[in-house]
Amino acid sequence: MASTADQTLRFTSLPHPAPTPADLRAQILANPGFGTNFSDHMVVIEWDEGPNGVGGWHDATIGPRGPIALDPAAAVLHYAQEIFEGLKAYRQQDGGLALFRPEANAARFNRSAERLAMPELPEALFIESVKQLVRADRDWFPDVEGGSLYLRPFMIATEAFLGVRPAKSYKFLVIASPAGNYFKSGAPAVSIWVSEYTRAAPGGTGAAKCGGNYAASLVPQAEALARGHDQVVFLDAAERKWIEELGGMNLYFVFADGTLITPPLTGTILPGITRDSIMQLAREEGLEVREERYSLDQWRGDSASGKLIETFACGTAAVVTPVGKVCGRDGEFTVGSGGPGQLTGRLKARLVAIQRGQAADAHGWVVRLD
Ligand SMILES: *Cc1c(COP(=O)(O)O)cnc(C)c1O
Repeated sequence: MASTADQTLRFTSLPHPAPTPADLRAQILANPGFGTNFSDHMVVIEWDEGPNGVGGWHDATIGPRGPIALDPAAAVLHYAQEIFEGLKAYRQQDGGLALFRPEANAARFNRSAERLAMPELPEALFIESVKQLVRADRDWFPDVEGGSLYLRPFMIATEAFLGVRPAKSYKFLVIASPAGNYFKSGAPAVSIWVSEYTRAAPGGTGAAKCGGNYAASLVPQAEALARGHDQVVFLDAAERKWIEELGGMNLYFVFADGTLITPPLTGTILPGITRDSIMQLAREEGLEVREERYSLDQWRGDSASGKLIETFACGTAAVVTPVGKVCGRDGEFTVGSGGPGQLTGRLKARLVAIQRGQAADAHGWVVRLD
């Protein structure tokens, strides 16, 4: 959707009447969990379509986090015109703060916006918004090992209108949530359930990071939990044969001959930034990584024969998670040893070390905040 590319938007800083008391904040930061506690501030930027049909971003604020007013007819509440991103700010070895590949999130956000008929946000403005929030909430970094500040930029259609067409007004917001280690003691291997439901069909919104995809994944995820598994894995919608991804994580298959396979980006899976980072790191180690379709039958057969030795899922929230057991309608199988694999552990350690400033950042992935 056409927007004036305003890169020079100034942020108005709104005073916070009642920030979280220091003792309560300390209590939260000692045991942050994931996604249930929030920092004191948020960023809000408005977009409106002008009389000439060209819209623009305006009124950028960094202010107290709190409820937002929406008209009950706001388009997002009816037709799910919503997109989001997820990235983390990490405390560096030297005490400074840094983001990991925020420009990749900014670019993906705009690809999602395009698919959902929403206005694009200049990448520089996306990154500046995230930086503004991290600076305002610099006291919200958990002290715990593996802790980070999880950042959630998102955009909603706010126009009050029940007709079906792209809205003419939007809000972009960024909120932050202190996050602990996703798994308390290292990363145990998870058990996953092969769903009969599908997540995304060819031509659909599978490659966009939109709330609607998640709404559709809640029943299959609940089904996985009810059957005693940790996560759901989706097969492709056309043939019900090829492995796609978990509800919010991409997959890698590791073979005994040292090659890796990950499902290709054909429009029905989310192009993960962790997926891309892992691919680069593995290739630099001299490993062959192929983006290739891989079926449930191959997964089962190769696990049994020993050709496949590890499988892991990857995404910003949990970084890298080993998959130990797979269960579907046709029964259950174990991957490799059933526990965390060696290469899985090594790639995770390399990525985490770069994110935290403990290893050289040869790719320019780490964006430091002054
Ligand atoms: C966000 C997301 C991922 C992981 O992407 P990262 O950029 O690595 O965090 C994978 N699958 C889905 C469906 C997602 O929404």
